[in-house]
Amino acid sequence: MSSAPRVGVLALQGDFREHLAVLRELGADAVPVRRASELASVRGLVIPGGESTVMDKLSRAFDLREPLLDAIAGGLPVYGTCAGLIMLADRVLDAIEGQQTLGGLDVTVRRNAFGSQLDSFETDLTMPVLGDPPVHAVFIRAPVVEALGEKATAIGSLEDGRVVAVEQGNLLGTSFHPEVTGDYRFHEYFLSKVRAA
Ligand code: GLN
Repeated sequence: MSSAPRVGVLALQGDFREHLAVLRELGADAVPVRRASELASVRGLVIPGGESTVMDKLSRAFDLREPLLDAIAGGLPVYGTCAGLIMLADRVLDAIEGQQTLGGLDVTVRRNAFGSQLDSFETDLTMPVLGDPPVHAVFIRAPVVEALGEKATAIGSLEDGRVVAVEQGNLLGTSFHPEVTGDYRFHEYFLSKVRAA
């Protein structure tokens, strides 16, 4: 098997180009995913930041919702950042009417959880799964994980204890955007799950 796993980035909307660039820099064969046939060809998927309400609508318009649900249920490694984390959450607070997620992560997230002053901010997070140094995390109209079910594990929190990174088997989610910081340890961590799957 090739040492460059083929991984996809859901490319319906949002900052998918940044994720493609990071994954390629790390040596992955990274491809945009807009169709079921493209999804079927990848061994891992990133769901980027953007706008979860729009991504939800487009996933149905592109007939990707059912294939995505099947892929997640089948154990495909998936990493969601920001809006992608919302897409992976089983439960969402402050969703718009009719908004659906894909689910998979046994968590409750709150959209746009930081007040207007703090809509966007940066901070350093200690993240034991990644080791030293702390991760410089960029939050852009970000969600927080308000509650974790039994199956999900918190792997990163703000100083006030609010959870902003979670893991559950092959699923990973972060409220923040590692693809814009030049620190690619989160993508490496995701690729290690892809290689192991
Ligand atoms: N606020 C957006 C949403 O609800 C997420 C923002 C982001 O992905 N940077 O989907």
